[in-house]
Amino acid sequence: VETFDGLRVTVAGLGVSGVSTARALARLGSRVTVVDGGDSERQRARAAELGAEGIDVWLGDGERLPGDTDLVVTSPGWRPDSPLFTAAAAIDVEVVGDVEIAWRLRGASGPPWLAVTGTNGKTTTVRMLAAILQAAGLRTAAVGNIGTPLVDVVLADPPYDVLAVELSSYQLHWAPSVRPHSGAVLNLAPDHLDWHGSMDAYAADKGRVYAGNRVACVYNVADPATEDLVAKADVVEGCRAVGFTLGPPGLSQLGVVDGVLADRAFIPDRRERAQELATVADVNPPAPHNIANALAAAALARAYGVEPAAVRDGLRAFTPDPHRIEHVADVAGVSYVDDSKATNTHAAEASLAAYPSTVWIAGGLAKGATFDDLVRGAVGRLRGVVLIGADRGLIADALARHAPDVPVVDLDRTDTGAMAAAVHEATRLARPGDTVLMAPACASMDMFTNYNERGDAFAAAVHALADGQGATE
Ligand code: ADP
Repeated sequence: VETFDGLRVTVAGLGVSGVSTARALARLGSRVTVVDGGDSERQRARAAELGAEGIDVWLGDGERLPGDTDLVVTSPGWRPDSPLFTAAAAIDVEVVGDVEIAWRLRGASGPPWLAVTGTNGKTTTVRMLAAILQAAGLRTAAVGNIGTPLVDVVLADPPYDVLAVELSSYQLHWAPSVRPHSGAVLNLAPDHLDWHGSMDAYAADKGRVYAGNRVACVYNVADPATEDLVAKADVVEGCRAVGFTLGPPGLSQLGVVDGVLADRAFIPDRRERAQELATVADVNPPAPHNIANALAAAALARAYGVEPAAVRDGLRAFTPDPHRIEHVADVAGVSYVDDSKATNTHAAEASLAAYPSTVWIAGGLAKGATFDDLVRGAVGRLRGVVLIGADRGLIADALARHAPDVPVVDLDRTDTGAMAAAVHEATRLARPGDTVLMAPACASMDMFTNYNERGDAFAAAVHALADGQGATE
């Protein structure tokens, strides 16, 4: 479908992206119906607003397909086997996501997309990338899975020069024609497998970020699965594979030499020597996984033609989002760090690797994960562990198997007050120089509304502790 005028579109989901897609399409002349299984007061108010704009909303029924639908637009999160999509497939009606709509509206003819996907680090990398592009004087925005919906951004007037786009595996699944200028897969670890059906299907969806790339497919040298996806990608002739590594860079790679982020991929005069981009100290925080994020962002920016000085200035200007390895306070020589966004084992592994001696606060909803590899990798760095949340038993078992000498406090609690108790117990286990790290390796919904609330509870408990003891920072 190329023209939206007169098209009969069904939008699945009355969330942020659903509403903005519905509005954008209605403005273009489509006849839009939004369907949603929910029927809350807030949704009814929203439905009334849209109704006044000529958009139909069916609440309390997210399964029935309006009879005359030409195209279905889904919101991220709806499962591919939802009855609505089965109904659409049965009568050959196409199902796409809001990202696909944005691309069809103004993809090839609009600002180029520098696109980022991966299991962890997407938001951080995209924000670093936007900061670098801004430092280069470009008009840009960090969008996609974050910020303003893409449909609104691509239609912005005046237009952006270039976009830093975060794409989740869900979004890529439903975006068959997106063709980024350059793309990056940061890493691949099992996550959301219940949605995608298998690791192969999950990887294949992530690999779509490379489809039709023109300048560079950026991959992680330490994660060969990402390079495999580049090898399989259908790219424009002349597009190059560019690796990033925490070691010295090989040809066509960005890497680290003596604390310097160095580029051997985009050297203007093609001499063998690497070009200095920034130092490790310019990366905030300078933890290994985050230096990898910075290198990936730098690779995309350089693919777009950004100068080395802007990479440095952008990285210096970047401040991480809350709850991502966020230093909360130092109390009595112990550093307290909130990594509530570590909602899976791969993320928790990265932050545990960043500190030599840690009291680890963990637990929550495991989403089917196993913890043996995580515990085995961290065992030499653990001063102690405090467990909270519904699935803490799984972590306790893994600790018993692989870290029998590490002291474990199992709080056996899932109420919100458990976080303050966990901070208290962690403080008792910690010695000066240690880090108390809340990186739960689990989702938060058993105890909190979301990871933000979980992080705020941790920070509040740490601040209460600090007020009692005289803290620094
Ligand atoms: P995403 O948008 O992919 O969820 P974020 O940038 O929000 O990623 O980071 C989520 C969490 O993942 C962070 O709190 C951190 O613990 C971890 N993380 C960030 N970057 C990486 C990386 N490159 N590799 C592994 N873990 C990472």
